[in-house]
Amino acid sequence: MTDSKLKIYLDFAATTPVDGDVFEKMKPYFLEKYGNPASIHSFGQEAQSAVESARNCVADFLNCSAGEVIFTSGATESNNLAIKGVVKAHFLRFPNQKSHLIVSCIEHHCILDSCKSLERDGLAEVTYLSVDKNGLIKLDELDSAIKENTILASVMYANNEVGAIQPIKQIGDMLKDLNIKRQSSKILLHTDATQAINYLNCDVIGLGVDLLSLSGHKIYGPKGVGALFIKKGANITRMQDGGGQEYNLRAGTLNVPGIVGLGEAITQIKSQESKIKIIEKLRNKLVNGVLDAIPDSFLNGSLNSNLPHIANIMLSGAEGEAVLIALDLEGIAVSTASACASRSLKPSHVLTAMGLAGFEAHCSIRFSLGKQTTEAEIDKVLMVLPPIVEKIRKIGGAISKKEQQRLPDDFGC
Ligand code: PMP
Repeated sequence: MTDSKLKIYLDFAATTPVDGDVFEKMKPYFLEKYGNPASIHSFGQEAQSAVESARNCVADFLNCSAGEVIFTSGATESNNLAIKGVVKAHFLRFPNQKSHLIVSCIEHHCILDSCKSLERDGLAEVTYLSVDKNGLIKLDELDSAIKENTILASVMYANNEVGAIQPIKQIGDMLKDLNIKRQSSKILLHTDATQAINYLNCDVIGLGVDLLSLSGHKIYGPKGVGALFIKKGANITRMQDGGGQEYNLRAGTLNVPGIVGLGEAITQIKSQESKIKIIEKLRNKLVNGVLDAIPDSFLNGSLNSNLPHIANIMLSGAEGEAVLIALDLEGIAVSTASACASRSLKPSHVLTAMGLAGFEAHCSIRFSLGKQTTEAEIDKVLMVLPPIVEKIRKIGGAISKKEQQRLPDDFGC
């Protein structure tokens, strides 16, 4: 492969490479220190002590106690447990009262689908909050959605497709005031912080959240491991039956190497704060460069109240999949929606909720930068992308006006 074909990865919101130091910390737990933390012998104790030190790392980062952190297989599981576990616990206490949940309509599918499944099973009713053109919820809409039977609000800290950062602290403050006056059940606040962890303050006390989900593979840690912060006293029940691991809240043998990796990855975040400015500068260069060079290109959302590494750009008339494939042939990896939804033909539920028509959502691509991204890589994208878009628009990769009319516009939430 020649230099001009060096691979460029701009899909860090889908997943990140495992950091070298993180990998080194994990290695012995595959090869030598392979005990099951539930075993009583010395092998087990060694593994158990590694798990507990990783738990302390996560707790330090979140400013909570170690007893408030449980390990899971990733943010999908953490989110499922947070939503379904809280509803089930409420059902066990008040079997005659249907729970009411409030979530934003741009949550990750693992939240939305958990809500849909609870609705289908008749266990909960759900209010889906709308967002504005920048992907932000409105606090007054949240306030007026609250009912007597509301038990949980779940709003993601930052969105994975456009990077919009939600006002979690304000929501936390609002619910705190409301809970003091409330006669009925306390409303818990959950946030999916999967995309935020690398970039935003995740002090759970400061934010006022009761539950917070995170994932290893978005923070230069391994895949298949995550965590859920559960504030002491929060009413939640396990969803997976089996052993008594994780304070009886999540049965199953612990993924010790993964947990060790997660602990190390989360510890490293603070020492890498200086990289954020660099990433943001490169992201801004990319956005300005694309908007300047490509006519009829638009940033989806805004650069204010946005994660520093994500840029979601609409290239009118150039189908996103076609652009993605053409970039991939040049060795540049981007995505059309979130990785989990990118094989779907539906337009992104996030972009349509922000007001884009279906065909506009289909013409959008997401760039997400990371700590390995260099200026030379951004320059290369800025060189390669304009002719690609021009070609696709010209030779029929572009969606004709007629076809645009046929594409479904909005799948709602
Ligand atoms: N929530 C958000 C906001 C995400 O971006 C992702 C991953 N795309 C998930 C949840 C799911 O995380 P995991 O891959 O760890 O299950």
